[in-house]
Parts: sequence; structure tokens; C-alpha cells
Amino acid sequence: MAHKVCLIRGDGTGPELVSAVETVFRAANVAIDWVEVEAGLACVEAGKPIVPDETIEKIREVGIGLKAPMTTPIGKGSVSPNVTLRKRLDLYACVRPVFSLPGVETPFKNLDIVIFRENTEDLYAQIEYMATETVAHSVKVISESGCEKIIRAAFEYARKNGRKKVVGVHKANIMKVADGLFLRTFKRISEEYPDIESWDNIVDNQCMQLVTKWSIYDVLVTLNLYGDIVSDLAAGMMGGLGVAPGANFGTNCAVFEAVHGSAPKYTGMNKVNPTALLLSGTLMLDHLGETKARADIEGALKATLMKGVKTYDLGGSATTSGFAEAICSELKG
Ligand code: NAD
Repeated sequence: MAHKVCLIRGDGTGPELVSAVETVFRAANVAIDWVEVEAGLACVEAGKPIVPDETIEKIREVGIGLKAPMTTPIGKGSVSPNVTLRKRLDLYACVRPVFSLPGVETPFKNLDIVIFRENTEDLYAQIEYMATETVAHSVKVISESGCEKIIRAAFEYARKNGRKKVVGVHKANIMKVADGLFLRTFKRISEEYPDIESWDNIVDNQCMQLVTKWSIYDVLVTLNLYGDIVSDLAAGMMGGLGVAPGANFGTNCAVFEAVHGSAPKYTGMNKVNPTALLLSGTLMLDHLGETKARADIEGALKATLMKGVKTYDLGGSATTSGFAEAICSELKG
């Protein structure tokens, strides 16, 4: 029976990336019954809310979604469709694996780290105002329950997946109240997992250590803003935004998406790399229990990269659709 999955085609280069994923999924004979839902800039331009209620209700009902990147409209009062979706669906855990891909040359050999980013709090609370005419305030919101959920998710993931170490990343030396709460919660929860080695790092030091000692890291867990920045850094270590996948988990639903944004300057050019969205799709297949399809697609992707078929960001000249077709040839071959 086909799996029902909500699909957001996204803005900018989003629709081209979704077409590439659909092409590869078809070639892999994965039975997905896509339920199209709307969100993003296209909704705003049609006079609708950036994330319509029907979209939220449908994803809640179906329980799973694949989302292409969406553009945040620029202008006073504009909210991010991505932040809105994560908050309204309470997708509190953003999980971003970073790993070496064959055929993608980087200085970071044998990279294999999973980043857990809290997804609904922190400076993304979007509470901002002008305190005076010339002074702006942006409020950082951290709750003990929010910290507990993401930290527990990281430790549980480590235990289930045979990972040995979890590192809590924060800036509690400066933000003693907000990050202090995260750090205290991290230390309290880590005691429940004596089988997993754990320690904490200050975020700036963590960034430096990621690029100098990446092989000692296994699972990182952190707050929303640090997670956003550290996971882009890690995406760069993996080969760039074009290859870095991600997933958002809540209690009752999961939405899979690439780390990157809508790359609007390349819209309609059939140029950007579909690998990140495709790998987000294979994370989704794993979640659906389609482990063979996941392995088949990832195998075909790696074989394609090894043959030197690459999009512009990896130094190649393949188009988005051409890259997808090359993966399909590997699947059929
Ligand atoms: P971006 O990720 O879209 O682009 C950053 C750089 O990476 C650009 O040079 C872009 O061309 C390149 N890039 C991105 N995806 C690529 C791919 N698949 N293949 C090759 N190159 C790729 O970030 P941005 O320019 O800061 O943001 C553009 C828009 O996307 C903004 O409106 C932003 O709010 C939104 N955004 C959305 C998400 C999301 O939907 N989850 C995430 C980040 C940014």
C-alpha cells in the first residue's frame, strides 16, 4: 500500500528540487501517495496566510511531510513560513546528520555527526520590538521543558543508533540565565544515560573544534540559533548546502527538509543540487520503514557522484534534472 505523505513544493528552486526527488522515487518504485499542501511566498502572493490552517491540519492528519525550501518575504512584520510551520506543528527536534559522501572531496574525512537543534524557542520566538527609537530588543525564550525534550531526543537517538557520545552546546558563560537553564537540564538528563559519554562545550569553541577535531564528535545537541549556525557550518564541511539533509520531529508528526533555503537566484535555471532534498527524502523513507528503498536510492546517488556526475556547486556541470536522471540510470542498471 502506498504511504500517504504531505508535499510542499516550496518557493524559488523548490519545485525543481521536488521534481527531481519525484523522478528518483518513481525509478526506485517507492509507492508514495503525495498529498499536495500549500505554504510559503506563493500563498502570500495569492492573498492567503503564509501557512494556511488547512496545511497545518492536513500535515497533522497525515503525520508526515516532505517540504522543499520556502522563501521568507522581506518586509516589516513578515514571518518565516518555516518557523511558523515548525512552531504550529510543535516540530521541536530538528535533526541534521552530516557525513562524508563518496565523490565529494572535502578536507574533513570520515565525517559522521548528528546535530540535534531545538526548533521552536530561543530568539526564533520572533518577539522583537523597538525599545526606544534607536534601540531594538529581541527576546530569547528558553523553557526547561523545551530543553528537556530536545536533550532527551538526542540521548535516546544515541542509545538507539549505537552512538557513544552526546555533547551539549551552549553559551552559558555569557547568557547565564537562558543558556544556564539549558546547561543545567543537559547535566541532569545526562545522568540518566550513564552508557553514553557526555560533556558540554561553549558554542564558539565547538565551531573551532568541529573543523579541527571533527572525528571525536558523534551527537551534538543545542539551542535553536546555535543549531542553525553550527549545522550550516557542518553542511559546509560535508560539501556544501547542496548536499546536507534534515528532518523535523514532533510528538505526532515529522517533516523532512533540506538544510538549505530556496536559492532564489537560481529559480527556473535547472541548476541547483537536488542531493540535500533527496537525502531528506531517504531519511523520510527510513522513518516509513522503507529501508530497502532508502539503501537503493542512497547507493545509486553515491555511484552517480563517484562517476563524477555533479551539479555546479560540487564543481560539475550536471543540471538538476540531469543529475536525477543519472541516479535513475544507476537504479535501473
Ligand atoms: P540559501 O540556502 O537559499 O542559499 C545560500 C547559498 O547556497 C546560495 O549561494 C545558494 O545558491 C546556495 N544553495 C542553496 N541551496 C543549494 C542547492 N540545493 N544547490 C546548490 N546551491 C545551493 O540561503 P539564503 O540565500 O540565505 O536564503 C534564501 C531564502 O531561503 C530566504 O528567503 C530564506 O529565508 C529562505 N530559507 C529557507 C529555509 C527553509 O526553507 N528551510 C532555510 C534557509 C533559508
